[in-house]
Amino acid sequence: MPIELVTVGTELLLGFTVDTNSAWIGRALAATGLHVVRRTSVADTPEAIRDAVDAALTRTGFVLTTGGLGPTRDDITKKVVADLLGQPLQFDDAIWTALSARWAKLGRKLVESNRTQAMVPAGATVLLNQWGSAPGLWLDSPRGVVILLPGVPMEMMKLMEHEVLPRLTTRGDGHVIRSATVRTSGIGESVLAEQIGDLEDALAPLSLAYLPGVAGVDVRVTAWGMPAAEADARLTDATARLHATIGDHAWGDGDDDLAALVLEALRSRRQTLAVAESCTGGMLGARLTDVAGASAVFLGGVVTYADAAKDVLLGIPQQLIANHGAVSGEVAEAMVRGVAARLGADVAVSISGVAGPGGGSEEKPVGTVWLGFLSGGVVESARLQFSGGRGEVRARAVQAALFGLWRRVQAAQRRH
Ligand code: AMP
Ligand code: MG
Repeated sequence: MPIELVTVGTELLLGFTVDTNSAWIGRALAATGLHVVRRTSVADTPEAIRDAVDAALTRTGFVLTTGGLGPTRDDITKKVVADLLGQPLQFDDAIWTALSARWAKLGRKLVESNRTQAMVPAGATVLLNQWGSAPGLWLDSPRGVVILLPGVPMEMMKLMEHEVLPRLTTRGDGHVIRSATVRTSGIGESVLAEQIGDLEDALAPLSLAYLPGVAGVDVRVTAWGMPAAEADARLTDATARLHATIGDHAWGDGDDDLAALVLEALRSRRQTLAVAESCTGGMLGARLTDVAGASAVFLGGVVTYADAAKDVLLGIPQQLIANHGAVSGEVAEAMVRGVAARLGADVAVSISGVAGPGGGSEEKPVGTVWLGFLSGGVVESARLQFSGGRGEVRARAVQAALFGLWRRVQAAQRRH
């Protein structure tokens, strides 16, 4: 069943607020089998809102809007849609009572403008909002259904979960749109596509999408419009086959975080981790400590940005740096040795690279990154070449460091 989204708010067009509502709703609706075929963002003006909802109703007869339901003057979605559908606004006692009770509990005083929030188009179903002041509305009309939700993301999500999705599930034919994702690193999109190209036909009717980002390439399989049990079975089979075909480069599924997986793998081996960073300036430490419970594994790290810091904090001789350059395998290896010895860590990783935009040379262009690894008493280094700007090079270097760690822990696990 097709549906269109209209997100209302001038701030969305000015770019001050990112339209996260659309993304969240797209996912939530897909899971119930509704297909979002178009999304539109419009300013808080009557013409813009009216045109967008009118056109969407003509195309699909099924529209969901967010925003413009508050008590202030710019909140006009309800009035505009009520006019469009010819359903005049009426005062709703139940909403007023609920709002009064909520306000009394919060110790706030209701003002005249709050009365507009109790005005409801004739015949509308009120979706009571216990999480904020503006109720959602479900409007059935000869032209189709319009669902109005508040713009505040938390309120929108709560109303979707408690009021909208349950109503949609009972309307649908039980078919769903579901996706599963296999996460990869260290392999380019085109090489990956070559590897799993044959599988693409075999997985039909599931569709396959490649989503490259700084964390690597995500491979997403999607089951379109089939019973939930069949979709789940097909997706489970598809992800198993993708893992088998991609092999070592496929490190996770769904929302998996590589930092969390590395920490978990080290924790199960009772090993500790230390990091030494140059061009990433602590980003690797931040990725690791974003994970709750990191302290069981992660001892700490140093940011040795200048040559002198590499000397003072890690004991790397200035002569070694002079001979090979700070961005070199020799220095990356000295960094892991130094930090592992100082913190008494079992495993260590280091990053030293040219993040750009300046500082590149013929021999070491911008994007050149050396990683050092110490695990199982073995010290190794690897040279990588990344593309993109400073931010991308640094984020890719952090992910590559985590991926190198993950591979080594996997290999160690297989040996035991
Ligand atoms: P409104 O319901 O239009 O008064 O919106 C209230 C607040 O919710 C706005 O100030 C925004 O910060 C936020 N908001 C509105 N629409 C969206 C959207 N589509 N995505 C994310 N945040 C939004
Ligand atoms: Mg608004």
